[in-house]
Amino acid sequence: MSGAATIIGDVHRTAQNPVRVMRALTLVADRKIELRDVAAPPAPAAGEVQIAIKAIGLNHLDVWGWRGMAFAKRKLPLIVGVEAAGEIRAVGAGVTRFAVGDCVVAYGGLTCATCKACREGRDNLCENVAGVMGFHVDGFARELLNMSARLVIPVPAGVSFRDAACAPVAFSTVQHMLFDNAKLEPGETILVQAGGSGIGTVAIKMAKAIGCTVITTVGDDEKAAKASAIGADHVINYRTERFEGIVRKLTGKKGVDVVFEHVGPDTFNGSLLCLKRGGRLVTCGSTSGQSTTINLFQLYLQQYRIFGSFGASIRNIGDSLAKMASGLLPVIDTEVALTDFERALALLESRQVFGKIIVTF
Ligand SMILES: [Zn+2]
Repeated sequence: MSGAATIIGDVHRTAQNPVRVMRALTLVADRKIELRDVAAPPAPAAGEVQIAIKAIGLNHLDVWGWRGMAFAKRKLPLIVGVEAAGEIRAVGAGVTRFAVGDCVVAYGGLTCATCKACREGRDNLCENVAGVMGFHVDGFARELLNMSARLVIPVPAGVSFRDAACAPVAFSTVQHMLFDNAKLEPGETILVQAGGSGIGTVAIKMAKAIGCTVITTVGDDEKAAKASAIGADHVINYRTERFEGIVRKLTGKKGVDVVFEHVGPDTFNGSLLCLKRGGRLVTCGSTSGQSTTINLFQLYLQQYRIFGSFGASIRNIGDSLAKMASGLLPVIDTEVALTDFERALALLESRQVFGKIIVTF
């Protein structure tokens, strides 16, 4: 943690300082996050709720934001944090769905609510989105936050803040990829690339939960054992074996029904080679670079279907939380304090993680 911001334990108000302040993790430059005091929000307006943030889930999107991205339109300083869970602290006029003390999560895309996509519940295709919280606009890593109640989702009883914090991005992204886009069916075979990552672990568990056969790739033997322990049927160490060849052998040369991609150029062509004729590849990321080439003859002759997927709908978050309530819980690698946010991002960047890192307030 860089910088020398004063840390104040609780929001307070004094005669000299009538502005309430709170702590917020703030990106001030590329690879520089400070814990700063910022103005606390006023009482929630009509239609809004005020949320006291309790836990934040880290994602690769946080790493991109921290490193800096040339094409991302945003202004610094920026409050970080793309997914979180918290508790309702106050409700504005006209809000009846929530009461003080409710455990909630929120949708981090500032959608318009009025375009065709929004009206149809395809929130991540909003035509007028004002940005992704924690990436383009201020995010969740702060003590208090006012949100439109429209974007807030109740957490079912029995789901912890820690687990719920993985619903808005990690769980819902995978839910959207596997079921809205790839339309994964019980009994199918799926290849999950980078099964030790936050979303990789979720994909393994969601696919196993509906009775799929799961093949996954990992980068070391320790992760291989962990991937088996969470249910993967076959685990391939991509550093010591060519995954394409193993997948063909495991599937009797037929290939898999679905590939879950997010690695990018390092694996993309190998992933296509793993598909059976008519197979589906769904991708939500490209951590190893931006561009690759594909064989167009192979694409149409094999009738592959490729889905680009980003984010999720509000409905996907509710579905994710329901899965958690029925026992499909996230794999948590570590829980760290606010002051360890940058160290945790470095761990994520170096891939020395199995599952999710949670930052607690
Ligand atoms: Zn919209």
